[in-house]
Amino acid sequence: MTSSFSNLSLAEPLARAVAEMGYESMTPIQQQAIPVVLTGQDVMGAAQTGTGKTAAFSLPLLQRLLKHENSSTSPARHPVRALVLLPTRELADQVAQQIALYAKHTKLRSTVVFGGMDMKPQTIELKKGVEVLVATPGRLLDHIEAKNAVLNQVEYVVLDEADRMLDIGFLPDLQRILSYLPKQRTTLLFSATFSPEIKRLASSYLQNPITIEVARPNETASTVEQRFYSAGDDDKRRAIHQVLKTRGIKQAFIFVNSKLGCARLARSLEREGLKTAALHGDKSQDERLKALEAFKKGEVDLLVCTDVAARGLDIKDVPAVFNFDVPFNAEDYVHRIGRTGRAGASGLAVTLVSGSDARLVADIEKLIKKKIELEAVEYDEDQPRGRINDGRRAWREAGETGDGRDAVGASAPRRERDRDRDHRSGRESRESRDPRDQHRGFRPAAISRDPFFEKPYEASAASDAAPAWEAATKAAPRSSISANIKPKRKVAALFKASAQPETTAQS
Ligand code: AMP
Repeated sequence: MTSSFSNLSLAEPLARAVAEMGYESMTPIQQQAIPVVLTGQDVMGAAQTGTGKTAAFSLPLLQRLLKHENSSTSPARHPVRALVLLPTRELADQVAQQIALYAKHTKLRSTVVFGGMDMKPQTIELKKGVEVLVATPGRLLDHIEAKNAVLNQVEYVVLDEADRMLDIGFLPDLQRILSYLPKQRTTLLFSATFSPEIKRLASSYLQNPITIEVARPNETASTVEQRFYSAGDDDKRRAIHQVLKTRGIKQAFIFVNSKLGCARLARSLEREGLKTAALHGDKSQDERLKALEAFKKGEVDLLVCTDVAARGLDIKDVPAVFNFDVPFNAEDYVHRIGRTGRAGASGLAVTLVSGSDARLVADIEKLIKKKIELEAVEYDEDQPRGRINDGRRAWREAGETGDGRDAVGASAPRRERDRDRDHRSGRESRESRDPRDQHRGFRPAAISRDPFFEKPYEASAASDAAPAWEAATKAAPRSSISANIKPKRKVAALFKASAQPETTAQS
């Protein structure tokens, strides 16, 4: 199978857009999916965000829609022909931005609608007529009910991140939306896993789908250097400073387990001179997109985030990921460190382990099937010391006695499905809380988790050698945030850490 886009016979406007994106060769999912989608067959694809999945479905879809291309100003000449459904606002926004880039030399129109934003600008766009509509299910239903969106001429529907949509509880919404669509259509379903529910969904709505799988479960990319350092709670920030300094790292993601911890840590690091932004569920959509944009522009060094807030972000080239808190679930570890070492680049994943994290670390060890060596951070003399806390010794002891202490262990499995349809209310689902907070007298609260992180991780087809398509990639141009949110602004560089930080983002 060829991996070059030039052998695909893409129409000139699409081929030009691909060339401008800097893509030289196809990703594995693109190699497999594009020829199939070009034939109009249904597809059931197992692939994660980050594998090039968006281009895999949108390029052939745009190619097939070119026959409808026209420059009429009449909305009637621009009915919705393709519908792309995604579970979250961030994902919808990112996918819409990519589609707009691929379609930019065509006359095909595209837009995105998602919750948490004013419906009016979205309505205006819809009323003008669009061939490709990207949407989250709840907001789309709102627009259908308001008669802003008519779907009776849809030829293609893409259910992207289908497993997450089901986990969030979107099945009834999906069923309703699909009932508005013509029976004669092509349906493409992408999911990280093919669970029985996904298979049921596929058997109800797909016709003789071609199955495409490029994911492998529970793998961490070989391009990520994984380090586990012992650090007592009081030493963790110092450890971060030290690692950043020693390794010459300019930008990183720092993961924490709770919103409260996220805000606190961001504030502390900011005070200590690092340009820091916090990304958690209490931040508004606009704030989160701004923080992300600032990070992309190099205006922010550290993005401190919770798992929920970081879900689905299309981030390339983050040089390092820190686990300030060891995640409660080993799968989250794999997700978190998957933010670095992408696109064939090398990445560093540092996990700070305190004495009470033995059980969680053992879970990670089991999942990634690699022996975890706990190291000590070698501090420079000029690094201010925190309270002495030999996390390493406590960790070993806990591990050896098998009792593994239990402030975290006992609470870790507590989870609850996110049924808060934040697309309607604009509110973020509640995030997992740090169980240690409970020991400080916090009222135990029901723990909500992003269902995405309840899934076993399916990495992109990682291999020892960087795939050709990744090595050849130039930084793709991306616009920053949806036109529905703010006037369009261009992001100059994608995660180029070299840019000198200028502004301070909110924490
Ligand atoms: P996705 O999985 O669709 O979210 O894509 C992840 C990232 O990979 C996006 O930033 C794309 O621009 C980029 N990408 C997609 N296809 C290719 C390709 N063939 N070569 C290089 N980069 C790509």
